[in-house]
Amino acid sequence: MRCIFISRSTFPRIIYDELSKYFQLDVWNNDGIGMWSKKAAPPPDVLKRKFSECDGAVVTIGDKITEDTLGGAKIRILATYSVGFDHIDLHAATRLGIPVAYTPEVLVESVADFAIGLMLGAARRIVDGDKIIRSGNAEAVWGEYMGDEVWGKTLGILGLGNIGIAVARRAAAFKMRTIYWSRHRKPNVEIALGVLPVTLDELFSQSDYLVITVALSPETRHLVNEDRLKLMKKNAYVINIARGAVIDTPALIKALREEWIRGAALDVYEDEPLPTNSELLSLKNIVLTPHIASASLDTRNNMAEIIIKSIINVLIHGKPPIYTANPEVYGRQ
Ligand code: NAP
Repeated sequence: MRCIFISRSTFPRIIYDELSKYFQLDVWNNDGIGMWSKKAAPPPDVLKRKFSECDGAVVTIGDKITEDTLGGAKIRILATYSVGFDHIDLHAATRLGIPVAYTPEVLVESVADFAIGLMLGAARRIVDGDKIIRSGNAEAVWGEYMGDEVWGKTLGILGLGNIGIAVARRAAAFKMRTIYWSRHRKPNVEIALGVLPVTLDELFSQSDYLVITVALSPETRHLVNEDRLKLMKKNAYVINIARGAVIDTPALIKALREEWIRGAALDVYEDEPLPTNSELLSLKNIVLTPHIASASLDTRNNMAEIIIKSIINVLIHGKPPIYTANPEVYGRQ
């Protein structure tokens, strides 16, 4: 019987139930450790050995898939339970002829909802309000805990991909003026949603709320840096649901501490899980969540179904995955 290596034991149950009907499963146990924690990941030598023994593998962010890990691989599909694939050396996978399956589209709406939630949570002080009422000190600020308006303000989107577009669609309901910077212009989206393309500098200087939805790559690493944060308005907010390393974290800490901007809301970090001694934790003007923007039951199950179908497609029907991050393996761009 063919074998699938699965790098977590805490993916939705359906993954194990369905794949075990067709394959022998070799599951790395991370019970008690959050699936996206570094501690949940198998060590590189284990990944390398499993890739050389099994016919397919399911991995996720936190599993660093390098050229070395893939060296000597027997797997004919590498499926990542994520839309981001910055943890995988795609070029190496392509050179070795291994299709990388991933799970775009199904998590777009839940992540966009979450981005709006972070924006409102930070600007309208919803998280602070909860904290102060629990601390027993709310009387002094009762009814006077001031935040910033969202309605009618300027939303800047850094990276107008699927999630960025879904955020822009929601912003229209808040009568926001939406501007964006993206690697490629999106004329159809501009017409459909009334969003305006701007330069990077304009994005930073005009946004009241800057929502980061750009994929992490060598080109986008630390795109949000000290110089650009200095361009922002004093009452602006930075919201990041993409990947932590798009922001130069010490620069953001400085911007928040010295109040160059009003606040931030982050779901993702350069170092995950966020170290308990991180300076971010000592700041008052920030909302922090533990990489949960896609964490709704429906979305996570939909992601699981794509993984299952992709593996069956490749290993049983000889067809491509549902979504392939490196279509070049099939001679497509
Ligand atoms: P997507 O549709 O593929 O959009 C990716 C965006 O990144 C596009 O705007 C694209 O620009 C831009 N981009 C990609 N490579 C780039 C480069 N080298 N230089 C400049 N821009 C580049 O992906 P999505 O579904 O919207 O997801 C976006 C990101 O959100 C994912 O990559 C992932 O890291 C993150 N995410 C986080 C969570 C979470 O739980 N917090 C959940 C899902 C996704 P163009 O379109 O202009 O080419």
